[in-house]
Amino acid sequence: MRTLLHVDIDAFLASVEQLRDPALFGRPVAVGTGVVASRSYEAKVRGVATAMPLHEALRRCPELVVRPGDARLAERYRQRTAEVLREFAPQVEVCSLDDFYVELTGAAALGAAGADPAAAALALCRRLRDQVRAATGLSVAQGVGPTRTVAALATARAKPGGICIVPAGREHAFLAEFPVVDLPGVGPSTQALLAAVGVTQVRELWAFDRELLQQSLGARGDELWLRAHGRDDAPLRSEVLPQSISRETSFEPRGGLVAQERPFLRAMLAYLVDRAAAELRRQRLLARRVQVRVDGIDGVRGERTQALGVATDRTDLLWGAAQALLEGLLERRALVRRVGTALLGLERCGVAQGQLFAAEDQARRRLGAAVDALRARHGFGAILGQGVGALLGQVPTGRHGFVLRTPSLTK
Ligand SMILES: [Mg+2]
Repeated sequence: MRTLLHVDIDAFLASVEQLRDPALFGRPVAVGTGVVASRSYEAKVRGVATAMPLHEALRRCPELVVRPGDARLAERYRQRTAEVLREFAPQVEVCSLDDFYVELTGAAALGAAGADPAAAALALCRRLRDQVRAATGLSVAQGVGPTRTVAALATARAKPGGICIVPAGREHAFLAEFPVVDLPGVGPSTQALLAAVGVTQVRELWAFDRELLQQSLGARGDELWLRAHGRDDAPLRSEVLPQSISRETSFEPRGGLVAQERPFLRAMLAYLVDRAAAELRRQRLLARRVQVRVDGIDGVRGERTQALGVATDRTDLLWGAAQALLEGLLERRALVRRVGTALLGLERCGVAQGQLFAAEDQARRRLGAAVDALRARHGFGAILGQGVGALLGQVPTGRHGFVLRTPSLTK
């Protein structure tokens, strides 16, 4: 039996405004221009609803704070939330603005086989709620069930901030209680069509033949039949992975000869690979190919790519490949204006891969994780990576590592 978790952020855009400006905590807040796109629970209890015109919202709640919202900030919170979810299970579908599905079937986080699945799911949801809160300050509602529809309806019941678990085998009794309009995909026109034949509740839909629904509503009818019977079993839509993670820096054209010496260029590339690999691990990705680019001041660009035997997130393996590529590129004797690396062929580092790493690999990865943890606490500059010694005294350093000419790299 499948176990799906649906997660919905409570009052998402309004909560982001409250996190950005803590003076708004506890106050009624609405986000939107023209109509209310999102409102805090303080606004909800004063009669402010989503999709309500703002003038009507202000009439009901004159002390309402209205903000236009910040899409970029909201996206950062959304991605951060998705990252927390991936710590529990690798397969996460990011749906609309503020909800997610997580595939829990067989997830290690659900605990050992034989344990009570509903109790295990509840424990997982509580941990997840705490971790999302700790990482983002956001509150989430969660629903667990054997299908998308059941999980999403369970979340609707759990709002705000709650957890609703529908154990396997209970999905029919659970679905029966809902009006058909609550099923995903049932808009006003379908609702009217169904009402015309006397169907307003999900349980009334059960009397309808699958073929008949298909004939009257087309493909949507079949989808509706599956949802109403707790049999919608589409896999989670695989997420869009980044194409590459790259880091590069440029040199002052007449920045002294030290910057052109091989030990320096090698050390700079080692540092860039270390930065890129740290980002790879932060996003829980693995790379299958390493690319190195060297631009000459004469405008000639050199670029070489090496495929790795297996996808990895280990700095030492990525650096080994990059170093060999650099030596090849430096055979052309011209002054270097820019050097960079890109990690390509990215894939998600799932539980399965994690278990397949060999013992030596495991030890290396634990070391990498320890370095990442120290850097997360004390800044990237707290630990110098392998091979970067030649940069010392040549490139200014800060808490976040070496201060490169490309400002975004020192973030
Ligand atoms: Mg929401």
